[in-house]
Amino acid sequence: MPIATINPATGETIKTFKPATDQEVQDAIARAYERFQDYRRTSYAQRAEWANATADLLEAEADETAALMTLEMGKTLASAKAEVIKSASGFRYYAENAEKLLADEPADAGKVKAAQAYARYQPLGVVLAVMPWNFPLWQAVRFAAPALMAGNVGILKHASNVPQTALYLADVIARGGFPDGCFQTLLVPSSAVETILRDKRVAAATLTGSEPAGQSVGAIAGEEIKPSVLELGGSDPFIVMPSADLDAAVKTAVTARTQNNGQSCIAAKRFIAHADIYDEFVEKFVEKIQALKVGDPTDPDVDVGPLATESGRDEVAKQVEDAVAAGAVARCGGERLDRPGWFYPPTVVTDITKDMALYTEEVFGPVASVYKAADIDEAIEIANATTFGLGSNAWTSDEAEQQRFIDDIEAGQVFINGMTVSYPELPFGGVKRSGYGRELAGQGIREFCNVKTVWIGKPDTADEKKVE
Ligand code: NAP
Repeated sequence: MPIATINPATGETIKTFKPATDQEVQDAIARAYERFQDYRRTSYAQRAEWANATADLLEAEADETAALMTLEMGKTLASAKAEVIKSASGFRYYAENAEKLLADEPADAGKVKAAQAYARYQPLGVVLAVMPWNFPLWQAVRFAAPALMAGNVGILKHASNVPQTALYLADVIARGGFPDGCFQTLLVPSSAVETILRDKRVAAATLTGSEPAGQSVGAIAGEEIKPSVLELGGSDPFIVMPSADLDAAVKTAVTARTQNNGQSCIAAKRFIAHADIYDEFVEKFVEKIQALKVGDPTDPDVDVGPLATESGRDEVAKQVEDAVAAGAVARCGGERLDRPGWFYPPTVVTDITKDMALYTEEVFGPVASVYKAADIDEAIEIANATTFGLGSNAWTSDEAEQQRFIDDIEAGQVFINGMTVSYPELPFGGVKRSGYGRELAGQGIREFCNVKTVWIGKPDTADEKKVE
């Protein structure tokens, strides 16, 4: 894939970039490794000052940055601006909380015959982040902010279609005050990831992206015995039971499926309506989906812009076409739009059977699959009939049903009467083929820390015979 800014709304190539040379890659790793030796000793207060200054800059420059993101990957300007502001809040959250989240954790010193015993969280070193284009700033910030606040340094290999956003992030972090080498963007193809990750000076890796990319990075990290976090795809269920507030559920369902032009890992992708309200749900859902305005993402009246890449648009179109050819019904949308750029209409598909790829694959575009469930057991069965387990959503006002969903849906996250959203305050991640490890909150910042056990003996027990 070329490293280039290509406007998805027109297909026009705006700017191309030469990949970093092998020597430039080596220089960047060396710079990061050397910086880590002193950066790890900086205080939380100092790092927080730089993180807050970075957040200030992000907020001040939100309009220009949002325009750049819209140009590179087609999200609407309003959602791009919201993403910049959220990214600033990510820096502020870790600026305020990192020291508390990584405070020494005391153990029962008496039980282990110590004067003091505790766990101390220490940074690991240079962490490689391989990131996707769909939330080009936020995805990278939710790695960068906790990693930097923990005392790690980062190298970002961003998706090849968002090079300018990638360069902007490293630039704004440097202008926020973080010393040279703390956070670098390397414009390299995915083929360069192996060399970087196998380098002895690189301690760990995190990847957000597709299953094949995750398998590759996870395998290399495994061979090198380096920790890794994988945030991969999702095919999140959105269950609606008869006791739910149906209008609120439908309204949220539309946003959950079409925000970011349908390209979110935690977008609700499979809608499972109880038989008693299935017809009403489908009717209202289709009506609202059809009312969405598709078009130029810089137009404030537009709800859904283009897909980010031509191949992504073609893949979504094929998934729907194949299902319809096999007997599924497109209640709205379902046909490519005859216009320049990589647009695909918001689409609702019903009558999907288990043999269709649409039943099992992730659809990375504004396409909703709707299923009918006879009861809660069947709703959960359909929800779990996927190799993924990232987010999940269930709508019901019945408390027993809520607990059932919380207990039995196989996912890293469950949102009741709402839609899955990432917040700095909540751990984010999945199970099954959606990956492993967590981002955000305390769990996220601890992923790239050495949990060092500290045991300090009592002076009078120094001669005691120790039992392992
Ligand atoms: P992708 O093709 O896997 O790309 C993601 C990143 O991985 C890019 O930087 C890409 O570089 C790199 N990459 C691709 N193949 C690689 C390989 N073999 N080795 C090392 N790096 C490799 O994913 P995408 O299609 O851009 O993004 C959409 C996917 O990401 C969806 O499945 C979505 O659900 C998932 N996602 C998950 C989360 C989450 O938090 N769980 C969040 C957002 C997106 P190039 O661009 O240079 O190819």
